[in-house]
Amino acid sequence: MNSTEHKICTRCIMDTTTKLIKFDEKGVCNFCKQYDEYYAAYLDKTPEQLKRELDAVVKKMKDDGKGRKYDCIVGLSGGVDSSYIALLCKDYGLRPLIFHFDNGWNSELAVQNITNICEKLNFDLNTYVIDWDTFKDVQLSYIKAGVLDWEVPTDQMIFASLYETAQKHNIQNVISGNNVRTEFTIPGDWIFGDKLDNINLQNIQKKFGTCDIKKLPKIPVKGKEFFYGKLDHKPVHLLSYIIFNKQHALKRLVEEVGYRPYPNKHYESVYTRFYQGYVLPTRLGIDKRKAHLSSLVQSGMLTRDEAIKELENPIYDPTLLKDDFDYVLKKFELTREQFDAYMALPLVSHESYGTDWDERYKKLSVKIKLFWKYRIAPIFKPKKETA
Ligand SMILES: [Zn+2]
Repeated sequence: MNSTEHKICTRCIMDTTTKLIKFDEKGVCNFCKQYDEYYAAYLDKTPEQLKRELDAVVKKMKDDGKGRKYDCIVGLSGGVDSSYIALLCKDYGLRPLIFHFDNGWNSELAVQNITNICEKLNFDLNTYVIDWDTFKDVQLSYIKAGVLDWEVPTDQMIFASLYETAQKHNIQNVISGNNVRTEFTIPGDWIFGDKLDNINLQNIQKKFGTCDIKKLPKIPVKGKEFFYGKLDHKPVHLLSYIIFNKQHALKRLVEEVGYRPYPNKHYESVYTRFYQGYVLPTRLGIDKRKAHLSSLVQSGMLTRDEAIKELENPIYDPTLLKDDFDYVLKKFELTREQFDAYMALPLVSHESYGTDWDERYKKLSVKIKLFWKYRIAPIFKPKKETA
């Protein structure tokens, strides 16, 4: 294939804006193939099977919660998925501690939604407010480093603080908002795969930051294993036990907890929408909506035509973009010229700053290596292939 030729999958809407795409003779992409393989191995279940598995996992969380204040902890961003998980906890009679990570970028609407949900469902809310000056310095370090994924500091610290809070309250189960049915596809060259690599983060901060980061939550070694599934108490992907229909979820949220929707996925954070709506498309020609929508097409929640139509909507409302841009510059204390200069930096790979991957991989058991190879690697491409 000519490298300049633009080509789109005939089944989903992934295209040649990811270098990692390949097509078969029918024009179907490798992401669709991977979804099918994963579906056949893990997701091809009858509603009865799913219900049995769901009942078992809910019972286990309740058993673990006996004699404790909470059965589980739920990270709530204010987005549809995590909000719906809170609602499901109520349905199933679970007693969650609701955890919210405040990195200083939440939209007012997200904060309102979170408060509403906890009040209406009568759940305790634990908001973790990160030290803004230090966190800002780390976010700026990522921008100055020329790396692809400016969301790593948030993603890593959400997990670190969530884990810390679970430990503090003696909570055994973490409910994850991930849903492999509807969030399967994300090319390895659109994100940094090892979001929890604290060595990489520390190295980037040492080189570009202006302060130390001892104040910030840190991934415990055990925490990283926990995420990758080595410990008994793996995160529970609650949405993967149901046939999750976003429209239905949204309808229930609006009716039952007075939820107010956002225009796009992950737009509950100003920084995230600015990053996905402006930085990625402008700097690297990446439109993450293609991956989100393709996942919905692969799982049968959306037709390909509906996805194409959805993609025709502007990625950013021009008025909102202008407001957000001013807000971002003000929060970072940057001029437009300084920001534009960072945007123009050549892309530098995250790995070039040093990672803990090689060392860790050598020590992994065969089982974990297989888990990595078949379940994690297809989603997050490790090393070299990224960026
Ligand atoms: Zn495809």
